[in-house]
Formats: sequence, C-alpha cells, structure tokens
Amino acid sequence: MFVQQDVKNLTHESLVHWLGQYGVVSYRADQILKWIYHRGVYSFSEMTDLSKDLRRFLSDRLAISRLEPEQVQSSMDGSKKYLFRLEDGQNVESVLIPERGHWTLCVSSQVGCGMGCKFCLTGRGGLVRNLEPSEIINQICAVRDDLEDPRSLTNIVFMGMGEPLANYNSVVQAIQIITGNNGLQFSNRRVTLSTAGLVPRIDDLGRDVTVNLAVSLNAADDDTRNKLMPINRTYPIEMLLSACRRFPLPSRRMITFEYVLIAGMNDAPGDAMRLARLLRPLRAKINLIPFNPYEGAEFKRPEEGAILTFQKVLLDHHYTTIIRHSKGGDICAACGQLRARMSNGEPGEAKQITG
Ligand code: SAH
Ligand code: SF4
Repeated sequence: MFVQQDVKNLTHESLVHWLGQYGVVSYRADQILKWIYHRGVYSFSEMTDLSKDLRRFLSDRLAISRLEPEQVQSSMDGSKKYLFRLEDGQNVESVLIPERGHWTLCVSSQVGCGMGCKFCLTGRGGLVRNLEPSEIINQICAVRDDLEDPRSLTNIVFMGMGEPLANYNSVVQAIQIITGNNGLQFSNRRVTLSTAGLVPRIDDLGRDVTVNLAVSLNAADDDTRNKLMPINRTYPIEMLLSACRRFPLPSRRMITFEYVLIAGMNDAPGDAMRLARLLRPLRAKINLIPFNPYEGAEFKRPEEGAILTFQKVLLDHHYTTIIRHSKGGDICAACGQLRARMSNGEPGEAKQITG
C-alpha cells in the first residue's frame, strides 16, 4: 500500500515534477490532466492512451478526489446554492448565479473566515480551516457536472466563504488549475478574487497569477473602516489603495471596489464624495451592495432613496457603479450570508470521494 496523494492538489508543473521522480516523461502530465479536467474522468483505468502498467502505477499512488453536493437549494431569482460536506465533516457552500447567457460560480476558499468583519455572517463563527486546492477545484467540477451545458459556466468569483488571500498558496494553485490549459481552461478575464485587503498578499497575487481583483472597501475613511473591518487597523485605506495602484492590470481592465451600504454608517452623500476622491488615481469600478440583513444583525439596509443618491454621486464622477442586489437572499446565499452548517454536530458521511 502507498500513501495516496490527491492529483487535484497538483498543478501541471507539480504533476510534471512528481512524475519526473519516477522517470515518467512530462507529456504524461498533459494526458492525465486532460482526462481529468476536459473529459471529467475519475479513474486512471479509463485513461486509455496510457499503458496498463502506468495506469496501475498511478492508481496505486494518486487519488482523483471529487465532491458531491449534499444539498442543492434553488432561489426564486434563478440562483442555486450548493452545500458540500468535506472529508472531515466540515461544510462549504458555492453559489451559482445566472447572468445573461451564462453562469457565474461564487466559490469558497475557507471554512468560515478569520477577518471578523462586523457586517458579515460568515465572519461570525471565525475561521475553522483553510480549503485545499482540490476542495476549491471540486466545487467547480461538481457544479459543472450538474449543468446541462457545462460550457455555460464561464465565470468564477472567489466571493464565497473565507478570505482567499488568507489561504494564499492553495488559492493560487487553484487559480492556476482553473485558468490552466491543461486544467479547467477558464479565461483569466473571467476569474475574480475578492479580498478584504491583505496588502502584502495583493502584491504577491499580482506577481504570481493573472486574475481580476476586487477589493471590499466598504468605507471611505479609516475611522469607519476600522469599525467595520478589523483588518483596516493593520492595513489602512492609504496602504490598501497604494497596493491597488501597484497591481499589474492588463489593458482595459479595472479593479472592482465593493462597498456594502449600511444605513447611517457609510451611506451618506459625503461618503460617496470621499469615495469618488479616493479612487480617482485608480482604474476603478464600483459595486454597491445594500447590506443583506440576517438574524441578529446589528445593521440595517439603507432606504432605496439613499442607495440611489449614493450611486448618483459616483455616476456623476464618471465611475461605472452598479447596485448589486445580491442573489439568493431567500435561500441565504446572498453576499456575506454564507455560513454552512458548521456546528450542527451531525457527523454524517464524508462526501469527498477518492478513487
Ligand atoms: N473575504 C473576501 C471574499 C468574500 S466576498 C471579501 O470580503 O472580499 C463577500 C462580499 O460580501 C464582500 O464584498 C463583503 O463586503 C460582502 N458582504 C459581507 N457581508 C455582507 C452583508 N451582510 N450584506 C452585504 N454584503 C456583505
Ligand atoms: Fe471574511 Fe470577507 Fe466576511 Fe470579512 S467580508 S468576514 S473578509 S468573508
């Protein structure tokens, strides 16, 4: 018996390296990954362009993991929430969002989140653990398998549970697999990572991969942001925006700034003016997310009029500004509402299947 390694935790480069230790030529990595990610095969025995000996050798040493949704809930607005149970019994959720002619999948990068933002339900339970690259990739594979036309899933956003830059290595490996030619082949124009603002990691990200960056700004001055997002005490707004200015943006792309609008906290026209001024040196677009209430929340969503006034100030300053009425509110799949049943005490069956 060998200790099996999960091939879905390996990028193309690391699989080439792994095979190289046994004298297997690098071309085999291309073949193996194409079987897994292009044809959706879950066993080495089906990889008919490999010799029988090599197939047996690989089956002994490598596993091909998968996740199966434990529960799928459909929202009235067309979005769907997938609940996955991981090998250790923890849960994560992904949300599939319908857009004009295609789907966007919002994936989780951690179980829980350690950033402690005051308005976010996911953050309430703290961080339970990081996800492995395979656990991120398998959310996408499972949802794609569930779609009538797998090619209609074109966009991935890291906006589910967790702070992706706090699980840096796994998230970068997952992005390499998501956008890789031998991987899931998503266009890097259609993959977006959202962060609360881990400044040194934003610099690393720009160096290591090409993805779209979204920043959860949520306030236009440090006092307010300190109250809402503890991370701001370590990396205040000016440091965060400097990192955004340094971020290598391909031509015609912009950084998205997300701004959760909370009544009486950050939703005054003066806040919008300050925001417009702050973002002036950047290629920026703005997503306004009216606060999604949940049981026990200490904040309120602003009235519609205040939301529209806030938007108008930004539009008048020539920012593309979209009000994102988040999807899936009726199934608790809206932004910041993801909080899989982390502590329901049911041991349950492991659903990460290897083999
Ligand atoms: N941790 C990363 C990725 C998660 S994205 C980040 O924070 O960017 C989750 C998005 O939902 C963030 O933009 C966050 O500001 C927003 N959000 C969190 N709680 C919310 C709530 N209750 N209502 C509306 N948006 C919320
Ligand atoms: Fe974590 Fe993002 Fe929620 Fe903040 S908003 S607690 S960083 S998931």
